[in-house]
Amino acid sequence: MAITYLKKAAPRPEAENSDIRDLVSVMLANIEREGEEAVRRYAEQLDGWTGDIVLSDENRAAACARVSQELKDDIQFAHANIRRFAEAQKATMAECEIEVIPGLIAGQKQIPVSSAGCYVPGGRYSHIASALMTITTAKVAGVKHITAVSPTRPETGIPDAIIYAMDLCGADLILNLGGIQAIAAMAEGLFGAKPADILVGPGNSYVAEAKRMLFGEVGIDMFAGPTDSLVIADHTAEVETVAWDLVSQAEHGADSPVWLVTTCRNLAEGVMARAEGLISQLPEPNQSAARQAWADRAEVIHCDSRQEAAQVSDRYAPEHLQVQAEDLDWWLDRLSAYGSLFLGKETTVSFGDKTSGPNHVLPTSGAARYTGGLSVHKFTKTVTWQRSNAAASHELALRTARISRMEGMEGHARAAELRLS
Ligand code: NAD
Repeated sequence: MAITYLKKAAPRPEAENSDIRDLVSVMLANIEREGEEAVRRYAEQLDGWTGDIVLSDENRAAACARVSQELKDDIQFAHANIRRFAEAQKATMAECEIEVIPGLIAGQKQIPVSSAGCYVPGGRYSHIASALMTITTAKVAGVKHITAVSPTRPETGIPDAIIYAMDLCGADLILNLGGIQAIAAMAEGLFGAKPADILVGPGNSYVAEAKRMLFGEVGIDMFAGPTDSLVIADHTAEVETVAWDLVSQAEHGADSPVWLVTTCRNLAEGVMARAEGLISQLPEPNQSAARQAWADRAEVIHCDSRQEAAQVSDRYAPEHLQVQAEDLDWWLDRLSAYGSLFLGKETTVSFGDKTSGPNHVLPTSGAARYTGGLSVHKFTKTVTWQRSNAAASHELALRTARISRMEGMEGHARAAELRLS
């Protein structure tokens, strides 16, 4: 395989990850021991928040009233698309019932979890869309109790537009909390929340680690760390479009990788020459984040053929994957590891991030090798049931007893044989 790295990412510092793990584990233990008091303390220490943790109905209504009608219309447009897509997903979730052997009926049901905790990130940006993506999908799945959280700004709390989005989607309870303390509060059911059966939503490395550590005690959607994006482009792609698509995703944060995989060396060189110029057009602090991400995390890879490009992309298993190349159907058919795929230059990850409908909460850091993104399925348990008549029970009992004894499980054998009589 002839692939050439025209630009390579710097190695990630290992120590950083273990520092985060240590901090998260101490904070979770303190919150488990001291409860709401520890959560309040961390909210003040880390986010400068001393106000109420529970957002009152009056403050919810006041925040919604402050959002302009134009922004409300845009949020409603995105909400309708996300809901439509989630409803289509729900329609694909099959229940079934079959007669396995004569007299033995078995089936599968789809049952939504009872309560969900939706994390809406908000440290650097106001991620309105994450409220839409998480809460709408939980609602469509049929989750009864939804708690939503998002980091507060000192003095003003959660940005009004995020509160509007949470309210529009039907959040039952909104907590003025971000970070590890927000995740722990939802898991443990503090401040009047119903303990979450599942925690969902993207977040920074602290949030992702807190979810990972609580997994088992509660469900999680996936391990979602810093966002990553890969663009596949051939000679038909435009330098300016490809460069903007990469730079716009580097804006997420200094730790957000962006990768270009291309069969066209001229395009690769053009994009590398253009990226810095585009980054300098961004406002601060976006510019600094994108510049560092581009310097440390970006990679540009030249491949001799589209087959090689597809192999490289599958190996990276990016969260977002864009293809700006000929024969889009070939790529749709061939690519097999990504969170969400964007085909053609008229499509961009920005659409998927904000408004177009498919979910933007997606597997990062290679997790797309084994999981897809947030969907109604993640809020739903696929469970099974069975029922036998006497004839089926007789046959099952004989065979079950023999297998159980071979396994050394006498209790199982006795329970089976009881059915013979
Ligand atoms: P965030 O809400 O994830 O984190 C902010 C919180 O982190 C704060 O409330 C604070 O309590 C906590 N925190 C900050 N520094 C801390 C420290 N030193 N110790 C303990 N806690 C600390 O917001 P963010 O930081 O802006 O990160 C958002 C992340 O979400 C980014 O990585 C972005 O890429 C990702 N994201 C992903 C998607 C997706 O779909 N995959 C969508 C939107 C955002």
